[in-house]
Amino acid sequence: MHITMIGSGYVGLVSGVCFADFGHDVICVDKDAGKIEALRKGEIPIFEPGLEQLVADNVRAGRLSFSTDVETSVAASDVVFIAVGTPSRRGDGHADLSYVYAAAREIAEHVKGFTVIVTKSTVPVGTGDEVERIIRETNPDADVAVVSNPEFLREGAAIEDFKRPDRIVIGLNDDRARGVMTEVYRPLYLNQAPLLFTARRTSELIKYAANAFLAMKITFINEMADLCEKVGANVQEVSRGIGLDGRIGSKFLHAGPGYGGSCFPKDTLALAKTAQDYDSPVRLIETTISINDNRKRAMGRKVIAAMGGDIRGKTVAVLGLTFKPNTDDMRDSPAISIIQALQDAGASVTGYDPEGMDNARQLIDNIAYADDAYGAARGADALVIITEWNQFRALDFGRLKSIMKAPVLVDLRNIYRHDEVTKHGFAYTSVGRPMGG
Ligand code: NAD
Repeated sequence: MHITMIGSGYVGLVSGVCFADFGHDVICVDKDAGKIEALRKGEIPIFEPGLEQLVADNVRAGRLSFSTDVETSVAASDVVFIAVGTPSRRGDGHADLSYVYAAAREIAEHVKGFTVIVTKSTVPVGTGDEVERIIRETNPDADVAVVSNPEFLREGAAIEDFKRPDRIVIGLNDDRARGVMTEVYRPLYLNQAPLLFTARRTSELIKYAANAFLAMKITFINEMADLCEKVGANVQEVSRGIGLDGRIGSKFLHAGPGYGGSCFPKDTLALAKTAQDYDSPVRLIETTISINDNRKRAMGRKVIAAMGGDIRGKTVAVLGLTFKPNTDDMRDSPAISIIQALQDAGASVTGYDPEGMDNARQLIDNIAYADDAYGAARGADALVIITEWNQFRALDFGRLKSIMKAPVLVDLRNIYRHDEVTKHGFAYTSVGRPMGG
């Protein structure tokens, strides 16, 4: 199969290289010429474990190339994926579909012969209809089938997720696309990954329903954590106790500072907006959004309380800035709100993140960036773990105590036990474990 991937970000690049690895001929296109130039030199613009090697292997094998030229690649393709961003629209929280529609117009101008156009970006119900309308309006002779194929990969484990998905959802209203999509995913199909064919609108909704459910699950356990603190229970044991029930499942039940990232915040909001437009509000999700928004700043207050209530003139060291480990993605990271809350209360902040600092510099003002955890902690009045990178899981507390101004640890990811921290003379605060855990 000849495949064009429009948009070579986290999803486009990972999907493109994995399709190439399956044996297809793939051209990854992006309008960002700098990104394409870098990719051609073998430089990967994002941090994603295993990606650099897989790209190099498939470029060497001649199955993967990079281009800014939509015309040539689309004209030569059987299948064109749209994997451009769909951020929240400024002002009203609906998904901004301008990149998707612009891509649809460009594709329409250049398609030759029967072509399957696949929306991989996360898009609200009905977007496929509009993409189809735009294509027919731009090029009435275009012979296309417009398909929805949402992506479920997680940053940080993206290649593994793409190659071993729990399911592949394909929404189509034109049966000619069915055989093509089966062929595209044949290697995974052989590995028993279920291919779930639905109508296009159903497929579009499945993606939002999945993300909203996961966001709700995280928010549920976060509220349980708050209750645990009040009633003297341990949220990790509550998680385990409920997660072992097969109807509930143990994943996404880790209490923490609230969900962030490039998907959950914008997708929950977009779903809530779509549902309101259809006069069928999803109140559980509206509430989830509001609880999570409040939570991030509440975590700032938790740090302030752990430091005695007044942090004016004090220094807080923050470990982990990205929304989760193993990515450099800073989009909607809880660290942004937490640091803002600490600065608003008069503290100075020093931060360290293994991969996210370049992106963080563009989003977080007025903090000092350190070269490692100990550099951040030097002279600090408290140390706050926001993201559970592996390198923060075995900190040398003796060393930290000797370089910090005050031995205070706030562990917003519950990666330590109370006794292993307090035995070094630290005051320890975690989430939902009033006895320290
Ligand atoms: P991204 O911002 O990393 O990448 C989007 C890329 O598209 C950018 O490089 C941009 O330059 C390019 N682009 C925009 N318009 C273009 C055009 N007309 N022609 C060519 N290139 C164009 O975004 P992402 O994180 O990869 O997300 C893409 C979509 O996938 C979103 O809808 C997102 O919700 C969804 N998604 C993301 C993830 C994730 O973990 N990041 C997971 C599942 C689904």
